[in-house]
Amino acid sequence: MTILPKLIYLFNAIPIKLPKNYFIDLEKIIIRFIWKNKRSRISRELMKRNAGEGGLAIPDLKLYYKAAIIKTAWYWLRNRVVDQWNRLSMQDTVVSDYSNLLFHKPKDPSFWNKNALFEKNYWENWKKIWQKLGIDQNLTPYTTIKSKWVHDLDIKADTISTLREQGIVYLSDLWRTEELMTKQEIENITKNKIDNFDYIKLIRFCTNKANATQIRRKVENWERIFTTSLSGKGLISKIYRELSQTYKNTSHSPIDKWSKDMNAQFLDEEIKAIYSHMKKCSKSILIREMQIKTTLRYHIIPIRMANMTKQENDKCWRRCGKIGTLMHCWWSCEMILPFWSAIWNYVQRTTKMCIPFDPAVALLGLYPKEITQTGKGPTCTKIFIAALFVVAKNWKLRGCLSTGEWGIVVYECDGILFCYKK
Ligand SMILES: [Zn+2]
Repeated sequence: MTILPKLIYLFNAIPIKLPKNYFIDLEKIIIRFIWKNKRSRISRELMKRNAGEGGLAIPDLKLYYKAAIIKTAWYWLRNRVVDQWNRLSMQDTVVSDYSNLLFHKPKDPSFWNKNALFEKNYWENWKKIWQKLGIDQNLTPYTTIKSKWVHDLDIKADTISTLREQGIVYLSDLWRTEELMTKQEIENITKNKIDNFDYIKLIRFCTNKANATQIRRKVENWERIFTTSLSGKGLISKIYRELSQTYKNTSHSPIDKWSKDMNAQFLDEEIKAIYSHMKKCSKSILIREMQIKTTLRYHIIPIRMANMTKQENDKCWRRCGKIGTLMHCWWSCEMILPFWSAIWNYVQRTTKMCIPFDPAVALLGLYPKEITQTGKGPTCTKIFIAALFVVAKNWKLRGCLSTGEWGIVVYECDGILFCYKK
């Protein structure tokens, strides 16, 4: 895409806040171009993947804009003390260590309010990303010994410069494994006397519990980007990669959706069990379709339909009067609960086992240990899948779903099972 460098240049050169709609329109134009004015055939998320992963490597323009903004914010913040206009002319010739200015003490919030719109916009974006990553932007393992934090402690400039000369650049360098270096050790390294008072002040600052956790934590990739790149070359793509990773992690997996709807947290082994269950059962296409419907049929629940079609009615289609969430449609609707209890009776009669009345059993195939040990899990699974077929076939049925009309026959014929209408 040759349009991308042009857009990045634009984002970089004109530092204004762009509205959301701008990116939506841009994306629409691109999609119209790719699909030749027809509706897009694959989802946008898929198109954004790399070619190796079956995508078209469509760049996320909004993230690129964010990356451009963050790059500018980074320039701005690290050179804050140097006059902004002088810096413009010398930024390529003098590349010195400005990182002491980057992870700085927070500025008075009114400072940002008084400044021009675009600066505030940059600052807000910068702040938001750090919040999203859950790390403190002001005091980090990369906070230097020359930073304002230390400056405010009133430590002599001599002490700081001798420390820096001997490679103690960051506050995190002051540690030997678990313990802060003793005065003797520091003097051995620097081969210079350290002022006793300075040392005490440094120790007091660094071992303060709140500060120590910030300085001593694991270094994030995000911070490393800004500390290691001095000239800002390739910075936008680095930031973009990191951002897309961050935003990808928050994408919704079906399991997350289920755990949210069921109000339960699944353990790692349980998630494994769910996936293995899906894999085992998905030999037949018919059943696989069912699974896709159970786990992903999220978009045809009333609450989503109301959202999509901009209607007010998000009530359950079975007319029970409740709001039609995913969990409600599959399980907790009072029109469907009798059906499930009938199924439970049937299962318990056939397997002669007591099975907890739990949506995770029927919908996700998660059994308690006692049942998996007896090896009766697969039989139950077949009955439950047949029952799910019945629910899915009657997805929009008005009123009560009865077992009387539906017979469920479990017999195997290449792994296919049947439910039929009487
Ligand atoms: Zn209902």
